[in-house]
Amino acid sequence: MVKQIEVNGEQVILGGNGALVASKSQPGVWYVVRAGQCQCKGYQYRSRCRHLDAVKSYSRAHQSQDDWYFNNVQGVA
Ligand SMILES: [Zn+2]
Repeated sequence: MVKQIEVNGEQVILGGNGALVASKSQPGVWYVVRAGQCQCKGYQYRSRCRHLDAVKSYSRAHQSQDDWYFNNVQGVA
């Protein structure tokens, strides 16, 4: 159950345990977004980043329930 989509111009792969979002600055690098967190440096500094935003945005667009981040995306993928 893996699905590749594009959200806000970001390439996102939805998998069973989280999402992968492609890095724009480093081709071939994918960041793991899981449980509302991203592993990229931007997220470590600011607690937010465009990878997480893309996953949130997808999740909202698909009317996930209360827990808007990846646990819900899981149900959709
Ligand atoms: Zn990130």
